[in-house]
Amino acid sequence: MIIKFKHDAPLPAIESLKQYLINQGFHIHESIGESVTIMGVVGDTTAFDFERLYAYDVVESVLRVQEPFKMVNRKFHPDNSIVDVGGVAIGGNNIVIMAGPCAVESPTQMETVAPLVKEAGAKILRGGAFKPRTSPYSFQGTGKKGLDLLASVGKKYGLPVVSEIMDIEELPHFLEKVDLIQVGARNMQNFSLLKALGRTQKPILLKRGMANTIDEWLMSAEYIVAGGNPHVILCERGIRTFETSTRNTLDISAIPVLKKLSHLPVVVDPSHASGRWEYIDSLSLAAIAAGADGLIIEVHPSPELALSDGQQSLRPDRFLALLERSRRVAEAIDRTLL
Ligand code: PEP
Ligand code: MN
Repeated sequence: MIIKFKHDAPLPAIESLKQYLINQGFHIHESIGESVTIMGVVGDTTAFDFERLYAYDVVESVLRVQEPFKMVNRKFHPDNSIVDVGGVAIGGNNIVIMAGPCAVESPTQMETVAPLVKEAGAKILRGGAFKPRTSPYSFQGTGKKGLDLLASVGKKYGLPVVSEIMDIEELPHFLEKVDLIQVGARNMQNFSLLKALGRTQKPILLKRGMANTIDEWLMSAEYIVAGGNPHVILCERGIRTFETSTRNTLDISAIPVLKKLSHLPVVVDPSHASGRWEYIDSLSLAAIAAGADGLIIEVHPSPELALSDGQQSLRPDRFLALLERSRRVAEAIDRTLL
């Protein structure tokens, strides 16, 4: 951290701030110039709120040189983390596909879609049971029963399952039934939920909030990892921008940025990013080419009958065709789509 002092800052005031920082355990390197005095503050500043330095009259500006996150930082853990989701490794050289409907609707729907996505190459079955819908009048999901159905269909076809948790109260049931707990965009900064998940050892799929920066997202991941659970996978699912042609804007650059800053696996959700099934192929291929470790894609046996997100759900035949093309892109960058 570097502090620049105001040009008229009285020396005793600078000295008193310096003493305060030394008492906090930092080492100080001072440079006193004719018009500018700066101070380098060396040490672990992770837990130090540098913004509060602006409360001092003498401080002109503060520059953070160390990222605010530590456990999820690649500097702290240079090798890629690999998260084991019910026997499927995410974050290594393989690219893993998760697929299934937006929402678990019925036994017939799940029984139809699960073998089809498995046959196409999906390794993890998705299905929301508790749905975070914008309107209270929209289908809210099938709740606990839906989660049980997802788990039993997953077991039958040998597919680990992923589903979104909305409330801490549901955690015991999720721990029992689900292999990967999804934290949705709307809960990325639900810190009490993140803390509760940090106390478990269950793999977590942490989606990016729709208007959150990469730093904020990594700080949310830090909550879980610092809480004791290292099994975190990040999921880019599009962010809010001024563009209205797509539901969200897929932040492709987030993939290399995350790969540079963090060791955590990164997957991409082209379904929520685009909001239209026609765009899913392009975004999926781009995400793989940009270095994503996996994709999570909405697939419905009859999208036109889906109770949620049918407009962005692939039909199983289209999903199969996409995976064939995705496999070739993966090979072109020396990775393997399982
Ligand atoms: C979902 O995956 O079903 C979902 C609601 O996604 P998001 O939280 O990214 O909107
Ligand atoms: Mn959805």
